[in-house]
Amino acid sequence: MQFIRNLFNRVPILNSEQRWECPNCELTDITHEARPHTRFHTCRGLKGLTAPFVPAGTRCKVEAVEREDYIGQEVVTYDGESRPIMRVETTREEGNDVAVFAPLARSNGGVG
Ligand SMILES: [Zn+2]
Repeated sequence: MQFIRNLFNRVPILNSEQRWECPNCELTDITHEARPHTRFHTCRGLKGLTAPFVPAGTRCKVEAVEREDYIGQEVVTYDGESRPIMRVETTREEGNDVAVFAPLARSNGGVG
């Protein structure tokens, strides 16, 4: 009986499997993370941008949104056609998820 109990203790707890897909490219992924999370990938369909996967079977669209504001001395994210991209937006029936590429202040690397 003790042997059987040990055997069961060795069986790993199966996490829920989450399948991911991208409406803009062929990539898919599978994660086994129990907590809420989002997978990102470099999307060929969005010209190399980092885009979120969506849960497989989700009816939605994922699209890049260009920056509309003036680009100064900040480092911004560009797509493969050198368009400055402000965010990647996932439009679902329940609402939008937005991944914002926050501009980074350019550093001079020195003091003063
Ligand atoms: Zn993709």
